[in-house]
Amino acid sequence: MTETLIKVDLSQSPYENDSIHNRWHPDIPMVATVKPGQDFIIECYDWTGGFIKNNDSATDVRDIDLSIVHFLSGPVGVEGAEPGDLLVVDFLDIGAFPHNAWGFNGFFSKKNGGGFLTEHFPQAQKSIWDFHGMFTSSRHVPGVNFAGLIHPGLIGCLPDVKLLETWNKRETGLIATNPTRVPPLANAPFPATAHMGRLKGDAKASAAATGARTVPPREHGGNCDIKDLSRGARVFFPVYVPGAGLSVGDLHFSQGDGEITFCGAIEMPGWIHLKVELIKGGMAKYGIKNPIFKPSVIKPNYTDYLIFEGISVDESGEQHYLDVNVAYRQACLNAIEYMKRFGYSAAQAYSILGTAPVQGHISGVVDIPNSCATLWLPTEIFDFDINPGADGPSGGIKGGVDMPLAPDL
Ligand code: ZN
Repeated sequence: MTETLIKVDLSQSPYENDSIHNRWHPDIPMVATVKPGQDFIIECYDWTGGFIKNNDSATDVRDIDLSIVHFLSGPVGVEGAEPGDLLVVDFLDIGAFPHNAWGFNGFFSKKNGGGFLTEHFPQAQKSIWDFHGMFTSSRHVPGVNFAGLIHPGLIGCLPDVKLLETWNKRETGLIATNPTRVPPLANAPFPATAHMGRLKGDAKASAAATGARTVPPREHGGNCDIKDLSRGARVFFPVYVPGAGLSVGDLHFSQGDGEITFCGAIEMPGWIHLKVELIKGGMAKYGIKNPIFKPSVIKPNYTDYLIFEGISVDESGEQHYLDVNVAYRQACLNAIEYMKRFGYSAAQAYSILGTAPVQGHISGVVDIPNSCATLWLPTEIFDFDINPGADGPSGGIKGGVDMPLAPDL
């Protein structure tokens, strides 16, 4: 029987579980050790540690203290792993807990977190997604049902002291360019809500003072939110500290490319079955700075898409120079406008883009002055025909409830 190395009790605060941490720091002690070739199971909280509830109110999304995230399980040590190695991690399987077969998606208030389209959706909203085996649907977003592409949003190895200092220096430098911006440009270390796993006392306080926040993806991987890092994938992670120190969390039942809604994909607690191997000296052998990975042999078989183009001219008509971020935003806004014609609120359409197996592509980056990004909306997830036709958008959803909204106080 495969051993479960880390267990979580969803009725207990993650702060009371010392196999959990919410900052990156090389001093966080390993909570278990495995051998190369070994497979094992790790249980995870959802990224907020259970703060977001299965109900019809978005006040939790509005009021969450975002300095508490992400609650990660680990770090797990690997015997023989040394700085410069590559840690090969097979995602043998990933699942939700049978007793907790639901997840959440939402948009943070612009004043507390924001999101990719926060200028258009400045208030907190939420949708709850129920799992039916490998499929999901939402009472807050009718007319769609799709298969999960389950993956961890966040996984990586502990940084060493030098890498941690690099992160803190460059991110605090960025914050200093506009320290009062809302939402902020980045998140500086914040000891008050740091959970440093098994570190205690002065060692904990000292590490918490510089522990890197978990929101951005970085050289080690971290919060990459790549939907294709799904069950069946194989990832090659850079190793920086003896034992590697692999941590994982932020499990997603499904997510569209970009995780544009930020709170987040379809977020859930659950379990992940992993197997590890080492490639000694692999970072130098293969010239690796950031992780590389092989996709799974299985994925939802959606083959038909309606594809929305966006260019780097923003909503006000202002010209930007080859700005892919602006172009992808336009592609998303174009998709939302189109979906509204089928009865969706803008929020419901936004939620679909954040949760369904939507693809985002950088299509052109050289044709000055406009880059072109495309958003691929799978048509087969809808229970009506969402394609354009001569008769106009005749189908669609018939009213029903909208996503709960929590106005700013
Ligand atoms: Zn997430």
